[in-house]
Amino acid sequence: MKLVVRVKLLPTPVQAAALEATLHTCNEAATWAAEVAFEENARRPLELRKHAYAEIRFRWGLGAQAAQHAIKKTCDAYTTLRANLRNGRYGRPGSRRHTRASGKPVVFRPEAAQPYDDRMLSWQHQAHTVSIWSTAGRLKGVAFTGQDGQLEVLAAHRRGESDLVCQGGKWFLIATCDIDEAALNAHPVGFLGVDLGIVNIATTSDGERHCGRRINRKREQDRNLWSKLQKKNTKSAKRRAKKYAGKEARRNKDINHKISKRIVAEAERTGRGIALEILTGIRERARLRKPQRATLHSLPFAQLGAFIAYKAKRAGVPVVYVDPAYTSQECSKCHHTARGNRPAQGVFACRVCGFVEHADHNASHNIAHRGWYVWVCGARSTAPELTLIA
Ligand SMILES: [Zn+2]
Repeated sequence: MKLVVRVKLLPTPVQAAALEATLHTCNEAATWAAEVAFEENARRPLELRKHAYAEIRFRWGLGAQAAQHAIKKTCDAYTTLRANLRNGRYGRPGSRRHTRASGKPVVFRPEAAQPYDDRMLSWQHQAHTVSIWSTAGRLKGVAFTGQDGQLEVLAAHRRGESDLVCQGGKWFLIATCDIDEAALNAHPVGFLGVDLGIVNIATTSDGERHCGRRINRKREQDRNLWSKLQKKNTKSAKRRAKKYAGKEARRNKDINHKISKRIVAEAERTGRGIALEILTGIRERARLRKPQRATLHSLPFAQLGAFIAYKAKRAGVPVVYVDPAYTSQECSKCHHTARGNRPAQGVFACRVCGFVEHADHNASHNIAHRGWYVWVCGARSTAPELTLIA
């Protein structure tokens, strides 16, 4: 399976300037190639090469590899655009947005990501440095840093191209890793149901609750500060607001990594699969007061679901997705389903059999049951192929 690892580069000011100049040059060249591709209607690499390769090398002084990448990047951008036009991302054909998107060449931002292959970028994992091509010559000994676990994955499994990106003045390499996955457990003894929520971020049918109270409180504080800073509308306030947004995202990601690791390890240890709700349901069925809505939309449910899915795939633990309808109103003992079974937010009390349990715990039991049915009906794991882990 493919995983993506992101490492942060720590270039010296001179190296950073060289990287910046490189990105700008490559993107200028790609933007020019995109114009050529548009005018000549040459949007496949072989055709575009004929029209643009020599001039890219001559005019921007790019080496053979970099010129090839500029052409490939341009063609990839047109492929993506074509796919987006086709699946309606720009509205219907003939609409203003559709016409605007299809009626002009693709333009690359000066700091758009640049792909690097093994001839342009080499890794020294022991020393935590890379040697990277730039328009100012090869930059040697550019330091990088990342989390230990991810650096191990990188050293052992990196394959193919990496992308150089600049975000908020910081430099990153995004590397693709090809990881062996364990053989899928084709005979799970049952399913561990996982209910994702707001008060409890994840509740398993084993009764383990990953509470989000502390996170929610911190998030609220951050959001208050953030809106205050936004109102101020000065440069330094904007900078601080951005910093806080990044901090929140990192904290959530870290928490999601820990929760998903525990859940997958537990399923693997006990020979079970994992059942999750189809994630799009969470937003649709939630009816909430306004202040809670902000919490809901900023909560990275999708991320936790994706983390569980890829960690499970790696471990050979099957994952199934179940219909989320009424999981919170159904009694997990007698299956009586009614809104009246939920006398309060956190409490489940069945009106028929009298079964009482924590509401999320009851829901996770339902998810586990449904997961078993989905599995028996022959559904396969639908874990996504490529997931960002850093
Ligand atoms: Zn009941």
